[in-house]
Amino acid sequence: MSVLRQKRPRLRLDRTAYHELREEVLARDGWRCQFCGSLNGVEVHHLESRSRLGDDAEENLITLCPACHRKVHRNRAVV
Ligand SMILES: [Zn+2]
Ligand SMILES: [Zn+2]
Repeated sequence: MSVLRQKRPRLRLDRTAYHELREEVLARDGWRCQFCGSLNGVEVHHLESRSRLGDDAEENLITLCPACHRKVHRNRAVV
């Protein structure tokens, strides 16, 4: 068997840790969409998508309402 080498190019959190981080981001942003100020069904969006250098870090996350979130993804064409 070959030696298992762990390659970890970026930080990825487990489910529980990510959930906590999400709550922190939502609290930081006051549970408001940072684009339009809506409080409806806010979600957390990765500013730098995970396919690039997007870390699961507070600075990389932003609170958005579903409508603005969709717009961001449509403009970027990357999930
Ligand atoms: Zn919005
Ligand atoms: Zn997103």
